[in-house]
Amino acid sequence: MATKALKHRYLEQQKQLFGSELYLSQNTGIPTNSESKTELVGISQELKDYNKQICVCQECSLGSSRTNFVFGVGDPNADLFLVGEAPGEQEDLKGEPFIGRAGKLLDDILKAINKKRGDGVYIANVLKCRPPNNRDPLPSEVEKCEPFLKKQISLIQPKLIVALGRVAGKTLLKLDVPLKEMREKTFDYNGTPLRVTYHPAALLRNSNFKKPAWVDFQWVQAYLQTA
Ligand code: URA
Repeated sequence: MATKALKHRYLEQQKQLFGSELYLSQNTGIPTNSESKTELVGISQELKDYNKQICVCQECSLGSSRTNFVFGVGDPNADLFLVGEAPGEQEDLKGEPFIGRAGKLLDDILKAINKKRGDGVYIANVLKCRPPNNRDPLPSEVEKCEPFLKKQISLIQPKLIVALGRVAGKTLLKLDVPLKEMREKTFDYNGTPLRVTYHPAALLRNSNFKKPAWVDFQWVQAYLQTA
């Protein structure tokens, strides 16, 4: 595509995401197509087999209320592993994480840093089943479900994990502090660097969070370029 058209598309995308304020990436400016990656057939198969093995889980009461077990989606060779809280209504119905409005915004944010789900990115939740009325995960549910996430991470071996929202950050880090105290710090999650940023649903609720979220995702983009 011609550079002018690319620029126009990029600016339109930024406008849709962040309104009239323009946040430009210092690193790349205009996105380029991401490099295509060789699919690691072995890991892909291992993930599929693992899903098959655990999708019948009845270790907590959410097993009996779910429509679908939401294993996770994305690139088995991902550098970036995004972790949400738990499936919502639409995710429960479809069996895929982040497909509602928040998911659409997440896809737009990924596009703004030259990423997309399925290409360099893997997306999963702390809990694989929907809690009733989208309540916060219970510690007992996290205890049963987190080993699944750990196994997914150990198969994919991302360069960076990003926890989306305070609940995901708090449950992974076992840290009960406000989100702003978790942002802009790099933690260690079983040997993988982990950052915490806003949940896309929070950005939909409060547009004041969009600017700091964009700062966080620019950091992610820069980090992955050098890691
Ligand atoms: N919110 C989450 O944390 N995860 C999803 O998959 C959907 C909404």
